[in-house]
Amino acid sequence: MINPTLFSMNSPLKSYEFLLPTVSGPTCIANAWAKIPTALNHFEKSAYTEKVRAHLQQRDAVIVAHYYVDSDIQDLALETGGCVADSLEMARFGRDHPAQELIVAGVRFMGETAKILSPQKRVYMPDLEANCSLDLGCPIADFNQLCEAHPERTIVVYANTSAAVKARADWMVTSSCALAIVHQLHQEGKKILWAPDRHLGRYIQDQTGADMLLWDGACIVHDEFKALELDALRKKHPFAQVLAHPESPADIVALADMVGSTAAMIKTVTQSSAKEFIIATDQGILHQMRQLAPNKVFIPAPTSGQSATCKSCANCPWMAMNGLANICNCLENQSGEIFIEESIRSKAHFCIDRMLTFTQNHSELLAQTQHGFVKNIGAA
Ligand code: SF4
Repeated sequence: MINPTLFSMNSPLKSYEFLLPTVSGPTCIANAWAKIPTALNHFEKSAYTEKVRAHLQQRDAVIVAHYYVDSDIQDLALETGGCVADSLEMARFGRDHPAQELIVAGVRFMGETAKILSPQKRVYMPDLEANCSLDLGCPIADFNQLCEAHPERTIVVYANTSAAVKARADWMVTSSCALAIVHQLHQEGKKILWAPDRHLGRYIQDQTGADMLLWDGACIVHDEFKALELDALRKKHPFAQVLAHPESPADIVALADMVGSTAAMIKTVTQSSAKEFIIATDQGILHQMRQLAPNKVFIPAPTSGQSATCKSCANCPWMAMNGLANICNCLENQSGEIFIEESIRSKAHFCIDRMLTFTQNHSELLAQTQHGFVKNIGAA
C-alpha cells in the first residue's frame, strides 16, 4: 500500500518537505514506491505496442523518451522515428521534429521544456505526476526570494526545474553543457546563483573556479550512491572503468574515471577500449549501453551495503511512472496534456533558447569541456 511520507530538502533559505510516494517497509522500486504502472505480460505488451504505433501515425505524433524510462518504451520510441536521449537532445528533437504532437516519456520538466519550445504543438505526458526531487525541492516563491537577495548574480538553473523557475532565470543548462556555459560566464567576470542541484553545482564550481552561490537540492537517485561500497566493488573489478553522473555526491565523483552527462557516458562506453564499466546513474541507461556496446559488461554502482540508506536502487521512481499503457491512453484520450501560461512560457523560452543557441555556436568549447570531464579513460 502506498503511504506518502515527507521528504526533506534543505535550501539556502529553509528546509523543504514534500510528499514522496513510498511504501512501508523497504523503500525500493521493486516495492512500487511510486505509482508504477502494472507489469504487462508478453501479449499485453504486444497489444499496446501495436496500438501505440497506429495512434502515432494517425495523430502525427512522436515519442520523445529519456534514457531512464522503461526499455520497452525506449525501443518503441526508436522504432517509430522518435528519440531516446538526454534532456538537451530531447529538447532539440522535440523542437525540430515536424510532428504536431509530442509524447514526452520522462518527467514533468521535460514535458514543460518541450511545450515551452514548441507552443504550437500539443505535448502530452503519460503521467503528469511524474516529477523530480530537484524540481520539487526548488519552489518558485523561495527561489524568487533568493534571486531578489542577490541581484548582482547571473541566475543559472538546471533543466530539472519548473517552468516558473526557468522564467526567473538568465540561463538554463543541462549536464551536457553546464560546464561550458558556466566557464564562459566566469570568463566574462559574472558571479553565479545556481539552482537546484548542489552536487552538480559544486562539481562545476570545482572545475571552473566560478563564484557560485548554490541552492541545496539533490537528486534522490544519484544521492544514494555509496562511496565505501563503490570502492570495494572497484577492487573486485580492477579493470572496470567507473562512470559517474555529476549529480552524484563528491566522494563518488572523486572515485570516478569519467564524470559526465548521460549522453557523454554512452559515448564513452562505445569509444573506450575498456571492456567493463561500473555505472553511477539511473539503471535505465544500461539498456542503450547494452544495445550500443553488446560485448561489454556493465555493473550498476552500489546504492546498498554497510553505509546504505537506499531509497531508489538507482531507479528513478518518477521515471518509472511511464508505461506502454499510459502512453496509449495519452494518444487515445488526449490525456496528460501540458499547458503553460503564456507569460511564463515566453520568459522561460528565453533562457532555454539561449542555451540551445550557445551549444550550436560553441561546439569546440563543448567538446573541450566534455573532454575535461574525462579523467583517465582510454579511448579506442
Ligand atoms: S533521476 Fe533524479 S534528477 Fe532525474 S528525474 Fe529522477 S529524481 Fe530527477
